[in-house]
Amino acid sequence: MTALTDKHSLIDPFQRKIEYLRLSVTDKCNMRCFYCMPKGFKGFEQPGHWLTFDEIERVIGAFAELGVSRIRVTGGEPLVRKNLDELVHRIHQLPGVDDLSLSTNATLLSQHAHALYEAGVSRLNISLDSLKPERFKEITGSELQPVLDGLMAAKSEGFSPIKINMLAMKGINDDEFEDVVEYCIEHDFTLRFIETMPVGDTGIQASDHYLDLAVVKDRLAQRFDLIPGVMPGGGPARYVQVKGTDLRIGFITPISQHFCETCNRVRLSVDGTLYLCLGQEHKYELRPLLRQGVSDDGLKNAIMEAIAIKPEKHEFRDKPGQVVRFMNMTGG
Ligand code: SAM
Ligand code: SF4
Repeated sequence: MTALTDKHSLIDPFQRKIEYLRLSVTDKCNMRCFYCMPKGFKGFEQPGHWLTFDEIERVIGAFAELGVSRIRVTGGEPLVRKNLDELVHRIHQLPGVDDLSLSTNATLLSQHAHALYEAGVSRLNISLDSLKPERFKEITGSELQPVLDGLMAAKSEGFSPIKINMLAMKGINDDEFEDVVEYCIEHDFTLRFIETMPVGDTGIQASDHYLDLAVVKDRLAQRFDLIPGVMPGGGPARYVQVKGTDLRIGFITPISQHFCETCNRVRLSVDGTLYLCLGQEHKYELRPLLRQGVSDDGLKNAIMEAIAIKPEKHEFRDKPGQVVRFMNMTGG
């Protein structure tokens, strides 16, 4: 199988156009969400293996020349990587990069919101699984208040949209969905519910709390008047809107209704490994090439070879547990 490219686009063997790269700038995190990373986890990538800013810029430049126009910076927690605003600024300057966004847990956002905005990030996704401080601490191991402060800092800075990502978990936070809807209406945030995925041991354990989002949607419809909604660049989420408000609610359903046939993305981890699917082990190592002085054309050829092995779909339902790496390692 081959990846096709005319100079300006990357097409995988299943005729999907790859135009979106999720860039993990670190596998470290200042939280320990129980579904993502185990407590006491020590298996972090050694700093010598982290792609440098120059290397990241080169890889993204090559992707952009191949038609990838959307970049999301993620992790681990991206804000624990030093001088992230400098990196973001460099990515923003690259020809062909039209859309630069960031996923964060928001704990450090109060300090960084202004610099990130100035550097070119326009859109933010922020994880928030509970508005109850004690519960938030049980889920993440951290305090809620800095996250709420970070959200307010982002709002006053002018990021738009700000999307709240909430993992819907039975027996953990399923009594809070309506409260989070109200919170998002009040602050003009977008809300997305996500199904837990069996990625790594932690994700498999979290799957005990799996909730089909169709059930969540039906429940919300009893309290709110939901009408069909759209969200530009909404990715795999299916949206509704709460009538009479600006709130859009998205449902991301990797398990109950997978969206692999429209998958347009790949992931670059902090050590320069390209992961072709969140739910499969197919990967391609770019770091050795970069450090052996690969040419620009050689780098682009390597990216095309990688896209040629992008699998058709994940198998979370049929083979849960086949992905042993944790979410913080891939860049969720
Ligand atoms: N630290 C940042 C954050 O939490 O937003 C960015 C990285 S985090 C790995 C990205 C997203 O992955 C978060 O929204 C998190 O909820 C989600 N995630 C982590 N483990 C997951 C799992 N097992 N199933 C579903 N989503 C998961
Ligand atoms: Fe950290 Fe994000 Fe994983 Fe939570 S989901 S442990 S905040 S990387």
